[in-house]
Amino acid sequence: MRLSDDIEKVLISEEQLEQINEELAAQLSKDYADKNPIFVCVLKGAVLFLTDLVRKMDIPVEIEFMDVSSYGDGIKSSGDVKILKDLDVSVAGRDVVFIEDIVDTGLTLAALTELFKTRNAKSIKICTLLDKKENRQVNVKSDYIGTTVPNEFVVGYGLDYAEKYRNLPYIGVLKPEIYQN
Ligand code: 5GP
Repeated sequence: MRLSDDIEKVLISEEQLEQINEELAAQLSKDYADKNPIFVCVLKGAVLFLTDLVRKMDIPVEIEFMDVSSYGDGIKSSGDVKILKDLDVSVAGRDVVFIEDIVDTGLTLAALTELFKTRNAKSIKICTLLDKKENRQVNVKSDYIGTTVPNEFVVGYGLDYAEKYRNLPYIGVLKPEIYQN
């Protein structure tokens, strides 16, 4: 099968993603020039974004990974954030930037931000590739946003549906019949 056959439309092309990454990388490089930040990548969706982003930055950045789950294989948030893999290092006194694929309800990042406050991070910022503003349930403010997206289920460039479509090079909307089956 071809993954692209299941895509109804392309929302953000490879070229647009490249442009977004350039702009975010330039801003982050400026803001974190002498801070040696820890970029905490939220698995698995943000991996492609993180790896493209940091390669455009010419400042020291440490990279750590966390795996949290709130979705299972479905497309609706359970609102239940579980830590599946925690960091290997302490964030006390460090400048932390969460790297996220998409902020939807906001529950994941609200929970992570609270947790990292208790761990005494010096500063905590959020960098998300996509912001699905319409669906917000809690008040989280992203400091760096690639672009906003409408309230549709998107896949590609790291984002999955039932672990599929992550390796599409663009962000697209899935044909509804795929998740209605
Ligand atoms: P939140 O806690 O903000 O509701 O959800 C954040 C997580 O939900 C994201 O990291 C992502 O894994 C998942 N998510 C939210 N909206 C979408 C979407 O449109 N497509 C995909 N593939 N995942 C989504």
